Amino acid sequence: MSHTEFKDLPLIEPLQRALAEKGYAEPSPIQAQAIPLLLEGRDLLACAQTGTGKTAAFALPMLNRIATHGRKPFRRGVRNLILVPTRELAVQVTESFRTYGAHLDLKIAMIYGGVSQTPQTKELYFGLDVLVATAGRLLDLIKQGHANLSGVECLVLDEADRMLAMGFIDDLREIVSEVPKERQTLLFSATMAKDIAKLAARLLNNPEEIQITPEGTTAEKIDQSVLFVRLRDKPALLLDLLHSQYFEKKEELCLIFTRTKRDARLIATHLNRDGIRSDTIHGDRTQAAREDALRRFKLGETPVLVATDVAARGIDVKNIGLVINYDLPMDAENYVHRIGRTARAGESGRAMSFCSEIDQDVSRFKAIERLIKQTISTVREHDFHDEAIEALHREGIALPEDAKDRRPARGVRASGKRVSKPREVKEKPKDKDTSGGRAAKQKRAGRPFRGFGRGRP
Ligand code: AMP
Repeated sequence: MSHTEFKDLPLIEPLQRALAEKGYAEPSPIQAQAIPLLLEGRDLLACAQTGTGKTAAFALPMLNRIATHGRKPFRRGVRNLILVPTRELAVQVTESFRTYGAHLDLKIAMIYGGVSQTPQTKELYFGLDVLVATAGRLLDLIKQGHANLSGVECLVLDEADRMLAMGFIDDLREIVSEVPKERQTLLFSATMAKDIAKLAARLLNNPEEIQITPEGTTAEKIDQSVLFVRLRDKPALLLDLLHSQYFEKKEELCLIFTRTKRDARLIATHLNRDGIRSDTIHGDRTQAAREDALRRFKLGETPVLVATDVAARGIDVKNIGLVINYDLPMDAENYVHRIGRTARAGESGRAMSFCSEIDQDVSRFKAIERLIKQTISTVREHDFHDEAIEALHREGIALPEDAKDRRPARGVRASGKRVSKPREVKEKPKDKDTSGGRAAKQKRAGRPFRGFGRGRP
């Protein structure tokens, strides 16, 4: 049976009204397939990335059931539990529940680590219809007697692949052992790797399986490209790209991924100094700072956000037009997650990846193309394109010895022809020139910013 409109789905009026207010008329494919099954109480194993509408696919039937089966949660009890890998995703999923459940009288809360637990224990005290939680903090609260999972009717593991990749398997096992065996269980994952299949076999009872994007494939609407560039040219390439992107399409937001928190910080500082408003989200920032950065990003106040992988989970911002992989992800599956931040809700988007001469990039890039089963198209029309690096990646030809230090000055092609106006560096009196980090000092000294050292992811 296929549904084309929400009103064809057997969802109660308050949910229909909330959907209409949100402007959603048609269910996405995963919603059309999952909602009827879940309303029947079936278990579900779904292979779907963010951006497919998976949150509503589990939230709507869950809310429908809560509202129509009038059991109240008991003290410290939880009726429905959604486990998520990160705080950002917890915020996001909770927001969705509040939106869709706007006309229902429900107790919904989220809990995650890194913030005081007192407000969370208060919310738990009177019992909850829906709890969205990260595994570590939830387990702490269970152990302290603040949360009781013995009344859970439905358990959702959202982005299960991420939870496993982040090492939460033991926490998950412990949490599941607190939940009744008699329950509905849903597992969502962007990929269906072996460990996910194993987890699903243990947790799910004769599940329906839905595959929205086949394993490893990336959203069709994303225009993916790779830029072969020397490691040390990456900062300058980024600046050039952003300056040209800005002039091209001003309202577009850009998300940049780095491998380390330190690089995220340095890049944002570097961009801000160059007049490109940017901010960061990474694991060292407080929850409040991350939320603030995300809010200002969404509003377009800081149109560039630099993020590490973990922090970027759950970023659901509509008009991200460009994702830049400043560093290739260590894990190919993260590539799929990262670029899935653009082209959300059917929009189109671009994803550009910087690929350098270092050995790790050679193996990472190979792994990405193998996973997505595509050859990513090469951008050669930029000043920092390096044919030798392209040959290294595409044909396995080692870099020539003399290529090691072959580097054009900023804004100058290998031919010696100047291609863009070099930035003016104002001379500053020495006594005023003492503050700032390495990048600032280098910039003041008229040297190009040469990039970042090693830092922790
Ligand atoms: P998700 O995959 O759950 O992260 O959702 C991706 C985005 O699509 C979110 O911004 C949702 O608000 C939006 N969305 C979900 N369902 C629909 C729908 N049926 N029609 C339009 N947008 C939707």
